Amino acid sequence: MSDICERAAAGVRGLAPYKPGKPVAELQREYGVSDAIKLASNENPLGASPRAREAAAAALDEAGVYPDGGGFALRRRIADHHGVAPEQVTLGNGSSDPLAFAVEVFVTPGDEVVYSAHAFALYPLLTQAAGARGVEVPATAGYGHDLEAMAAAITERTRVVFVANPNNPTGTRVGTAALRAFLGRVPEDTLAVVDEAYFEYARDLDPDYPDASAWLDDFPNLLVTRTFSKLHGLAGLRAGYGLSSAAVADLLNRVRPPFNVNAPAQAAALAAMDDDDHLATSLAVNREGMAQLEAGLRQRGLDWIPSVGNFLTFDTGGDAGEVHEALLRQGVILRPMGEYGLPRHLRATVGRAADNERLLAALDRALAETGRR
Ligand SMILES: *Cc1c(COP(=O)(O)O)cnc(C)c1O
Repeated sequence: MSDICERAAAGVRGLAPYKPGKPVAELQREYGVSDAIKLASNENPLGASPRAREAAAAALDEAGVYPDGGGFALRRRIADHHGVAPEQVTLGNGSSDPLAFAVEVFVTPGDEVVYSAHAFALYPLLTQAAGARGVEVPATAGYGHDLEAMAAAITERTRVVFVANPNNPTGTRVGTAALRAFLGRVPEDTLAVVDEAYFEYARDLDPDYPDASAWLDDFPNLLVTRTFSKLHGLAGLRAGYGLSSAAVADLLNRVRPPFNVNAPAQAAALAAMDDDDHLATSLAVNREGMAQLEAGLRQRGLDWIPSVGNFLTFDTGGDAGEVHEALLRQGVILRPMGEYGLPRHLRATVGRAADNERLLAALDRALAETGRR
């Protein structure tokens, strides 16, 4: 290793990079299959709304000039949507951005960051990169966040606590009363981050799913993150945001790269927010697809973790590796969960009816080939 590499920050040297879902083109190249489907990254199977695509295409006319670095129109639209001031919005290149800004702003080497076992992989990654100590709190018996234990794990060195609601990859959620009580227990000088990447799906599937963005006035140390990557179908364009007190947003915006959300992404996000039909259709496809997958798994005698997202994590009845491989050979990409502490599980994104059918058929073959049925 060259001297310069040895000078890398200690946290970064020990880091294993985030492993995204396998792209379709890569699978087709490696396995020589055509016609593969990817149900591995929780994307909207309907893609972007036609209105968002048109808006993004129109924005290309201005591709030669910098985008609006302050994101004036989009910030105002988001602020209106949540009934907050534009000064409370931090735009992100996906919601990964505000999550990273939170750690960058508040966490220094030696600090502690609290998150749950089986939680979103970005939290430990950001924590480690910052040279901080990640405190992983054991999950409940149902693989959910144990908010009692998480509150108890906060010390005077805890700068950030992450709650993914619902959580990816487990699809579990915490309810309204429990989350509010938890936020009341987070010390005022610890940032409480509630990651609501799957907000709309959860709202659709569960009446007791809380909207933490409604509590910003009550908790000046609260940051709520949302994204256009999931329900809005804009994962490839990269847009998301954080909502917080204006004071916290001001700090987050100081580390935000000046043009982090490009012009087509800003335009598409604005259009996507207004496309009620596409959003409603997407939710319906998810609701029906979730029921279809649950019924299919039940028929096959497989257990799953009840989910309020657009994905379902199920137990393959043994180590998931072989089943995952057998699915890949049939051109079906799911996400293995070993790195999340769930070596028996695979996560499937809910697809369109035909995608789900194909997954279930491929699963039959995979279970037979691996001698599990
Ligand atoms: C997908 C996801 C995100 C956001 O991803 P972006 O594309 O960066 O918006 C954030 N949190 C969780 C839990 C997710 O699953």
